[in-house]
Amino acid sequence: MKMVFLGPPGAGKGTLAALASGRMGLPHISTGDLFRAAIKDGSELGKKVKGILDEGSLVPDALTIALVEERLSQNDAQRGWILDGFPRTTGQAEALAGISDPEWVINFDVEDSVILKRLTGRRICSGCGKIYHIESMPPSVEGVCDACGAGLYTRPDDSQESIRTRLSAYRSQTAPLVEWYGGKGKLLTIDGTGAPERVYERFMEAIKA
Ligand code: ADP
Ligand code: ZN
Repeated sequence: MKMVFLGPPGAGKGTLAALASGRMGLPHISTGDLFRAAIKDGSELGKKVKGILDEGSLVPDALTIALVEERLSQNDAQRGWILDGFPRTTGQAEALAGISDPEWVINFDVEDSVILKRLTGRRICSGCGKIYHIESMPPSVEGVCDACGAGLYTRPDDSQESIRTRLSAYRSQTAPLVEWYGGKGKLLTIDGTGAPERVYERFMEAIKA
């Protein structure tokens, strides 16, 4: 199965994609994670995109599409995938249609006040990437990952200012994809509020129906 997870930053795409990937046996391909890994490695790509990610703007289509094209050509991606955070522009959606069109586009619906709370309280494990929230999903020991014991950090683009930029990039560049995929009959909109397990149940109901 080939699926795209669509929605504003903080909609829970990454959390749900990690859950669904493990349970459905599909690779979880997150462009945000790929860019952050490139930054950590200090690669040419990483150097080019670091400032863009920190500020909360979108990486140019050409770079993003090349990255995804390469990732989708790998062996583990031939039977299906969950794309998290791609496409984010109509140019990217058109490019994806030319590579391999998704069967379903899951649109996570979450209101702005919830998004802000989620993003400002989000903490990420520096070791394994597991996502926590200081109120709704705290680790058992503050600042330490339950899964691997590494320290937790706040993403640089989870600052108030970058959050504002990311939300406005979403509204102007990504939100039009909801209609774009809707017109192709591929869109499933689900309520993204509540605990991850609850969202997972809604997601399973939607793809079975
Ligand atoms: P979120 O959905 O919470 O904003 P992501 O991890 O998906 O976080 O993305 C983080 C950042 O990576 C984005 O703000 C953007 O700079 C860059 N990025 C990720 N995916 C794309 C994409 N498809 N096109 C352009 N930039 C992207
Ligand atoms: Zn960890």
